[in-house]
Amino acid sequence: MFGLMMNTPLLISAIAEHAARYHGGREIVSVTADNPRHRYTYGDCIGRAKKLANALNGLGAKRGDRVATLAWNDYRHLEAYYGISGAGHVCHTINPRLFPEQLVFIINHAEDRWIFTDVMFVPLLEAIADKIPNVEGFVVMTDEAHMPETQLSNVMCYESLIADESDEFDWPEFDEQTASALCYTSGTTGDPKGVLYDHRSTLLHAYAAVAPDVMSMSSRDVVLPVVPLFHVNSWGSPYAAFMAGAKLVLPGPKMGDGEVLCELLDSEDVTLSLGVPTVWLALLQYCEKTGKRLDKLQRTLIGGAAVPRSMIQEFRDKHDVEVRQGWGMTETSPLGVASTLKAGLENRSPDEKLDFAAKAGRGIFGCELRIVDEEGSALPWDGEAYGPLQVRGPWVCSDYFKLDGSAGTHTDDGWFDTGDVATIDPEGYMAITDRTKDVIKSGGEWISSIELENTIMAHPAVAEAAVIGIAHPKWTERPLLVVVKAEGQDVTGDELLAFYEGRVAKWWIPTDVEFVDELPHTATGKVKKIELRRQFKDYQLSG
Ligand code: AMP
Repeated sequence: MFGLMMNTPLLISAIAEHAARYHGGREIVSVTADNPRHRYTYGDCIGRAKKLANALNGLGAKRGDRVATLAWNDYRHLEAYYGISGAGHVCHTINPRLFPEQLVFIINHAEDRWIFTDVMFVPLLEAIADKIPNVEGFVVMTDEAHMPETQLSNVMCYESLIADESDEFDWPEFDEQTASALCYTSGTTGDPKGVLYDHRSTLLHAYAAVAPDVMSMSSRDVVLPVVPLFHVNSWGSPYAAFMAGAKLVLPGPKMGDGEVLCELLDSEDVTLSLGVPTVWLALLQYCEKTGKRLDKLQRTLIGGAAVPRSMIQEFRDKHDVEVRQGWGMTETSPLGVASTLKAGLENRSPDEKLDFAAKAGRGIFGCELRIVDEEGSALPWDGEAYGPLQVRGPWVCSDYFKLDGSAGTHTDDGWFDTGDVATIDPEGYMAITDRTKDVIKSGGEWISSIELENTIMAHPAVAEAAVIGIAHPKWTERPLLVVVKAEGQDVTGDELLAFYEGRVAKWWIPTDVEFVDELPHTATGKVKKIELRRQFKDYQLSG
């Protein structure tokens, strides 16, 4: 027997309508390339998204067509999110930090018909224009006064494109599993793979994101997503904020700049911010140097890479900011777990609480987890056993765009193999020990590079650290610690190795230390281990 409840489809346009009706006057503040502080409201945003939807119809866009964006976080990009997906097209967010060959690959693979671009990425597109012949037009997201000279053909100015369009638009109704957005994983090997989100997955994920033990986002919050709109839909924040009615602050092209961030956080009364650890490193360093305090910020959601315990501690002790770690992937929309304190753990010591906060987090309803052994049998949740992490749920991808199961990432019983190795403790907190391919194998056992990195991050002379495995004739591999020193600090390799004593198992302590000026980062701000391994491929260990 079926229930008798309405089957109204979960559509992104419904969030837009909700935001316009209930939070129409709530502010959206953007830093853009042509305006240091643009202000308007949710009502304005949705009106302009509807103008864009009308303009796309005028261009001949059909349901399911891919319309790409190549842009930083600002209000025009946000309008594109709602205008494109709401009208039934697929918003393909492109990461501008990809190599030109990867850009060419994903634009052609996605069969993008139009690309909406920031002015600053026009040269990038000019350089590859002859290799993306199926793109019918480029829309530069600025006004006529700021239009660049360009050799691109069929170029339109965003403001002119929408200027004469109506701000009335009847959002179409369609199946909630219709594709809404497309994001390619910046795979370190092989071609990038496209994750194709749908309206249903996006809305369910947004409901989860606003929940108290996840982002805890309400209409009283002011949210600054430092995570790019091209990185897993900015972790769903544009949908969650519209659903909640939170004020949104979009940092534009200077997202990684500590000074810009600090000023925005303070002057716009930001209560919640989201970003990868490298972003916070820059902010905390800036605060340390200038003596600034983050008085208004209440919490940060940090994920995309392991969050060093020392970072959580610094936020807590110096700024009274709660760090919520999250784990997720492009394939999981991305939220999979979040690390808030469970009932029953309140009376633990501050140190123990920090231990929980330093884990990736505990399960969010909607994303099931399991860890398995080599035969695929479930491992115990004892905080000790580790193995490949598998997930499933309504916002986890069931396949990649146009790969028809050939990626080999899904198990026969319908779970997605994340490529991460993890432990899960009896309280349900999951901790990532490594990416499968980054695990260091020493003497038949595994060493967690993440734990070695997190441990050394607590040393005051270390600004950033990465650990990689170097081939060893006896042990198969031994860890090499690669360190960027904190500004004005000096330290020797031996001092750093001594710091590990008593903090990790003796045989885990890296064999050698190398100092570098900077570490290579991926397009989404994570340390690029593959590049680091390449840099040190001929490295001779001292022991
Ligand atoms: P991406 O799809 O580019 O967002 O990358 C997802 C990957 O980032 C995951 O598979 C993990 O390897 C890594 N990651 C994300 N969050 C965390 C976390 N909290 N701790 C450790 N690794 C993380």
